Amino acid sequence: TGVILAFALTACEGEGAGSADPDPDADPSDLTAGVAMPTQTYERWLNDGAAVEEGLEELGYNVDLQYADDDIPTQSQQIDQMITQEVDVLIIASIDGSALTGQLDAAADAGIPVIAYDRLLTNSEDVDFYVTFDNYEVGVNQANALLYGLGVLDENFEEAQDAPEETLNIELFAGSLDDNNSHLFWEGAIDTLEPYIEDGTLEVTSGQTDIEQAATQRWEQETAQERMENLLTTHYSGDEELHGVLAPADPLSRGIIQALQNDGWGDTIEDGLPVVTGQDAEIASVSLIADGVQHSTIFKDTRQLADEAIVAAEAYLSGEEPEANDTETYDNGEIVVPSYLLDVEMVLEDNYEEILIDSEYYTQEQVDSGQ
Ligand code: BGC
Repeated sequence: TGVILAFALTACEGEGAGSADPDPDADPSDLTAGVAMPTQTYERWLNDGAAVEEGLEELGYNVDLQYADDDIPTQSQQIDQMITQEVDVLIIASIDGSALTGQLDAAADAGIPVIAYDRLLTNSEDVDFYVTFDNYEVGVNQANALLYGLGVLDENFEEAQDAPEETLNIELFAGSLDDNNSHLFWEGAIDTLEPYIEDGTLEVTSGQTDIEQAATQRWEQETAQERMENLLTTHYSGDEELHGVLAPADPLSRGIIQALQNDGWGDTIEDGLPVVTGQDAEIASVSLIADGVQHSTIFKDTRQLADEAIVAAEAYLSGEEPEANDTETYDNGEIVVPSYLLDVEMVLEDNYEEILIDSEYYTQEQVDSGQ
C-alpha cells in the first residue's frame, strides 16, 4: 500500500501545481529557471550550479543562479525574489531543508513547480520532485571503506581472514543536522558499523556515538578540525591509539587530517595516520588519496545530477511531469516526494584512475597538482 499511496500522492501533486504552469508552447527564451545553491565554499556546489546553469542555457532557457553563503535568511530572500520575478521553475539545494516552507507555499500559490536538488525540502507538501543520490548508500559505502581501511573487511568487502585481533579505536563525524542528507549518511554508516561496535571489533573511544555529538554545524571544515583536536587532547593524549575516523565530506576529512598531522600521527597512512573517509571526490582530497594520505571518498557524479535536474525542469517547463525512479523513500514529513536517485561509487587509492580519470571527471594533471 505504501507504493500505491506514493503514486496517488504523485498524481495529486502534479495536478496541484497546474494552475499557472508555463505555457507548453512558450519559447524557451521567455522562460526562466531560478536556481538556489547553498554555498560556494564546497567545490561540489560550484560544479552543480555551473552545470545546471550551462545545461539549461544550452536549451535556450534563462537562468537565475544564486548562492547564499550558507546563510538561511539570504537563501530565503533569494527565493522570495525569484518568486516575485515570476520564474517558471525553481531548483533548490537548501541550507536548512525545513526553513523554506513559506517560500514553497508562495511558489505553489504562484504555480511554480519546485525541484529539490540533492537535499530534501521537508515539512511541506509543495515540493514537486527531488533529484539526488542514494544517500543511505553513501553512508554504507563510507562505513565499508573505513572497515576495509582498518583491515576488518577484505578487498571484496567480506570479513578479512587476517583481520586485526586487537580492538580498533575509531571516532565518528556527521554533517549538519539541518541537512536531511546528514541523517541518511549517518544511518547508512551506523547500521553498517554497529555490529562491529557491538562485538568489540571497534570501539568509539570518546563514547560520542550520537549524531548530535558527532554533528558538524553547516558542514564547516574548521569545526571538524577543532572537534578532532579536542578529541585528541581529551582521549588520546596518553598512549591510546586511534585507527580510523568516519568523516562524511572531503573538506571535513581534510580538517580532521590536518588536526591529526599537527598532533604528530604521521603524514601518510603508511606512517601511522589513521584511516579517514570522505565524500564528494573533491580534487584536493583525490590528490590526498593518490598520495596515501586520505583513505577514501565517495564519488557522486554531479554532472549526472545536474542532467537529471535539467530533465525534470525541462519537463515542467514544457507542461509535463518528470519521471521518478523512486516513489517510496523520500517522505518529507508531509508527502512522499517523487524522486530520481543516482548511484554512488567508493573511491580508493587503487581505483581513482578508473573511476575519476577514465570518466573524464578529472585529468591526471589535476590529481597531481591537487587543483
Ligand atoms: C551533500 C554532500 C556535501 C554536503 C556538504 C550534502 O547535502 O549531499 O555532497 O558534501 O552536503 O555540502
